[in-house]
Amino acid sequence: MSARQTILDWCNQTLQTDLYKDYAPNGLQIEGREEIRKIVTAVTASRAAAAYAVEQGADMLLVHHGLFWKSEPVTITGWKKDRIATLLAYGINMAGYHLPLDAHPVLGNNAQLAARMDWTTEYRFGEQNLLNAGRLKTPQTLAQLCAGLQNRLGRTPVAVGGEGRVIERIVWCTGGAQGFFQTAIDEGADAYITGEISEAQYHLANETGVAFIGAGHHATERYGIQALGTALAQEFNIETVFFDEQNPA
Ligand SMILES: [Zn+2]
Repeated sequence: MSARQTILDWCNQTLQTDLYKDYAPNGLQIEGREEIRKIVTAVTASRAAAAYAVEQGADMLLVHHGLFWKSEPVTITGWKKDRIATLLAYGINMAGYHLPLDAHPVLGNNAQLAARMDWTTEYRFGEQNLLNAGRLKTPQTLAQLCAGLQNRLGRTPVAVGGEGRVIERIVWCTGGAQGFFQTAIDEGADAYITGEISEAQYHLANETGVAFIGAGHHATERYGIQALGTALAQEFNIETVFFDEQNPA
């Protein structure tokens, strides 16, 4: 058992939340009880994740995607009310770590995806150091790279462009980072790997010859929050359990 504030302080300090300009609050988003024995980690603070936290008797739901985004209405109604009501009814804290958990050089989504894929990060760059650049240990075709992603992430990636290209230099950023494709092209990437694809990237990939791979927003962001949970379990006398969902996006 540990004090909630001690756990949050450790997370805030470890993930250096002060350094990021984010469009979501990092840290505690919904206050529950003060003592923490068990934490459920999940990619998103969904209704299913909240229900799982209740079922597990957890004291905290710790996620990458919390419940409050600058682009959304600030009112608490409908589905958002339902999720929050569940957490409040059971005294479950909800804490979210967004960009700091994408970028952290060890626990972050980018670093953890690289670890799963056996990619080596040469350097981080771009907006708030959210992009990682590296080189494949052995150059691969696009089909081989996609097969590896499918194999390790359990989801079929969407790949466009890069016809016949030998892929060695890669740039990646997990989640909904399709908007950074041009940055990756400018960096000299053979392939850019992120979670989601939008309409524009199809054309950009075809016209520049740089491969674009949408490997899944959920699928590429499962690993940072699990790494954070594991680190917390080692640091404090608490149990952490990961809740996964079959989210195809
Ligand atoms: Zn995300």
